[in-house]
Amino acid sequence: MPLDPSRTVAELRELAELTGDENGAQRVAWTETWERARGWLRERFAGVPVEETIDAAGNQWFTLRGASDRAVLIGGHIDSVPNGGWLDGSLNVIAGVEVLRRIAEEGTPATTVRLVSWADEEGARFGRSLFGSSAAAGSMADQDELSSRRDVEGMSLPDAVGAYGVSLERALDARTELEGAAAYLELHIEQGPVLEGLGLPLGVVLGTFGVERHQITFTGQAAHAGSTPMDQRRDALAAAAKLELEIREIARRTGAGAVCTMGSVVTKPGIVTSVVETAVCLLDQRHLDADRLAEMLSNGQAASRRFAQEEDVEVEWERVWSIEPILFDESLIELADEAVREVAGESHRLPSGPLHDAAEVARAGVPTVMLFVQSLRGLSHTKLEDTKDEHLELSVRALDALAGRTISRVGSGS
Ligand SMILES: [Zn+2]
Repeated sequence: MPLDPSRTVAELRELAELTGDENGAQRVAWTETWERARGWLRERFAGVPVEETIDAAGNQWFTLRGASDRAVLIGGHIDSVPNGGWLDGSLNVIAGVEVLRRIAEEGTPATTVRLVSWADEEGARFGRSLFGSSAAAGSMADQDELSSRRDVEGMSLPDAVGAYGVSLERALDARTELEGAAAYLELHIEQGPVLEGLGLPLGVVLGTFGVERHQITFTGQAAHAGSTPMDQRRDALAAAAKLELEIREIARRTGAGAVCTMGSVVTKPGIVTSVVETAVCLLDQRHLDADRLAEMLSNGQAASRRFAQEEDVEVEWERVWSIEPILFDESLIELADEAVREVAGESHRLPSGPLHDAAEVARAGVPTVMLFVQSLRGLSHTKLEDTKDEHLELSVRALDALAGRTISRVGSGS
């Protein structure tokens, strides 16, 4: 049977019907609905010579043996956030099913080909994203902390994952799955507005942004709003407000996709009759280039000190979280460009703002690339998430073309 991308779109709708409701997708990991999705996925391979296994971290693998043990991996995640969209994660998995069926139909491939549905990419229930892929990559190091996490109903993470045969102590055993992996391919919806803005269906992802998250506290002096002249105030909010406008300039000057967001400013005492004494800001800065990310951070810090001086207040920075940029494999990026041009005429390279399982696999040293397909209105993690059927079909074709090229390259040993 040749590749049938319209079947992928029909199967995506079937899965949405089976595991969603009027509010959207409900495939939260480690729940009955998620298990139903996993069972449904298994049925897609009826009559196809693939072997199913579930690893120590709960990842679901389908392996089609090839002439060589070296494996080309195709991955995605079938879990969703509560009230999620019908495409985030599941597109990659279901498109991968179609590609595996096409390859199996043509006989034994040159390399082993494996589809993986990663467990709990979203971290929706326990706040720990990329659970299964970080275990397989060997980068999961927070087992102690995870063992005390609970969901909103009070169930502990060990109990929730234990019901699906996973234990935190053994989750890292999933590392053996990446032995022999020669390439990792992941198709995903963009979840942003860039491709739609360019009028292009598909793009090739260069890597995932590095992130610097800081809490910045400006401290001035609370004083009576009526009796304190304007030129004698130590107004913490004035400095914070200047910084909020300056980070937009810093991102603009840095360019190449730079983004800076001040997502929160909390003021105290927070009453209308007082000058603001403390303004606590949360700043998120992202870039694909580690040096430029570091430069954005130091420019932000320098600006904050300047504004603190101008407003006669103190400023303090504290790192909340950070991750380095993760770059995808250059030769796979070339192959992905070829595949996209073959099916869509034109390609475009772009970074990914969100993290993906692919970042964990790349960190583990497996050559990795991602394809993005256009998202309508840039919306995701909502039932409004959507992509045109014709673009979904093109994306399946692009994944198939990329998989074909990658298998021939890995199979020929180059
Ligand atoms: Zn996703």
